[in-house]
Amino acid sequence: MTLTSTDPCTGEILWQGAPGDPAAAAAAARAASWGWSSTALDERIAVAQRFADVVGQRAEDFAALISRETGKPLWETRTEVASVRSKVDISIAAQAERAGSRTGDVAGVRQLLRHKPHGVLAVLGPYNFPAHLPNGHIVPALLAGNTVVFKPSELTPAVADFMAACWDAAGLPPGVLTVVHGGGETGKALGQADIDGLLFTGSPRTGAALARQFAETPHKILALEMGGNNPLVAWDVPDDRLDAAAAMIVQSAYLSAGQRCTCARRLIVGPGSEPLLDRVTALIDRIVVGAPFDDPQPFMGPVIDNRATDTLQTAFGALIGQGAKVVRVLARRDMAKPFLMPGLIDVTDVRVASDVELFGPVLQLFRVPDFDAAMTQANATRFGLSAGLIGGDAALYDRFWRESHAGVVNWNRPTNGAASNAPFGGVGLSGNHRPSAYYAADYCAWPVASLEADDLHATIATGLRP
Ligand code: NAD
Repeated sequence: MTLTSTDPCTGEILWQGAPGDPAAAAAAARAASWGWSSTALDERIAVAQRFADVVGQRAEDFAALISRETGKPLWETRTEVASVRSKVDISIAAQAERAGSRTGDVAGVRQLLRHKPHGVLAVLGPYNFPAHLPNGHIVPALLAGNTVVFKPSELTPAVADFMAACWDAAGLPPGVLTVVHGGGETGKALGQADIDGLLFTGSPRTGAALARQFAETPHKILALEMGGNNPLVAWDVPDDRLDAAAAMIVQSAYLSAGQRCTCARRLIVGPGSEPLLDRVTALIDRIVVGAPFDDPQPFMGPVIDNRATDTLQTAFGALIGQGAKVVRVLARRDMAKPFLMPGLIDVTDVRVASDVELFGPVLQLFRVPDFDAAMTQANATRFGLSAGLIGGDAALYDRFWRESHAGVVNWNRPTNGAASNAPFGGVGLSGNHRPSAYYAADYCAWPVASLEADDLHATIATGLRP
């Protein structure tokens, strides 16, 4: 079987190869494990810093490749590469703060807290941020002294190889980072290989499958970062802020063609929202959908492939079948390529809204009578990744923050674009309480608590016969 990765906009073949051997990759990582974990932290940090330098030197080529393999506009992939680079310094700081060493004193006895790496960690990546998201596991895992087997999305193998080549150029010893290509079966086999844990970013369905697979091995670390069905409530938006609110709604829903885990999927509005909705639709109508290197640059590119396009259009059609009203149709820009025009659909009259993540440029509109109903609707999901309030005052936001069941809760900011120097993760079906980003250091090492004395003294004071 040959894997092929193509440019979604041109159909050009970017990468071809055979699926890798997860067991062999895990064995190589195991063989390199002792050497890397014994390497001084300063040296591991130095390699990571050289990696950041290499990424900086190759930034334009890196961004262009991500654009070609995913279809994302160049302005956006440049920011992805910048995030890959800045992740190194953030991870060094996070590791020192959350997984570093501490000494103390307990009744004259020296107390130490130190951390040990797990050993061999597998990293499974998604296609939507093919560099930044796996990198968010790989950098902290390597800094902590783990060796890594990285299985990228089968849709973005070329980006993975590019990133691994940057580590090679930075002087990472052989076997410390191994890329193994393949699809879901390869990912599953990697989960069963000789690894000590698996760090996953991807869909809720795959995350649940991995949780079942790992149920037999509770001693192995499993960090799951999954999707969401994220609510965005627009409430009491002042007249002079309607344009800003519309811009924030559009950004939340359609950035990256809706292919961000934090994208707003459900827009919840109260009575009297027509002026806001008019501005939202006017802005949607101005969105330029285009290829990544177009000049001027588009707001958003295609979705990843024609299969994703069909899935999204089928879901959109199903909502119409259930009584939803189309505000802006999720239309193909041309029949052969996966460009989709942003869709907005009023699902207020759909009796049982389906709680699934539509991973693309689709926003569902819910009209509710009051803020109680808005909060009920916002939390009417099994997921809990991001949630946002636009408008209102501090008291309303305080209520929104307290009642929201999500790991990212924003006010007057888009639901997406989370900061890398904060923890990132969701509750419910969006994760398994192993938040990533700044807290990734936590799941890359285990704490060892020690009480130590240079000399040996002991007596038993109670309960002994004279
Ligand atoms: P996906 O679950 O289809 O694939 C992710 C990875 O898992 C790929 O490498 C894939 O090959 C592998 N995989 C697939 N089936 C597997 C199985 N049975 N066992 C082991 N591995 C398997 O996800 P995707 O479509 O590439 O990415 C989009 C999804 O990722 C969306 O749901 C999005 O919300 C989510 N996502 C989450 C975050 C986050 O940080 N929470 C960030 C980005 C994307």
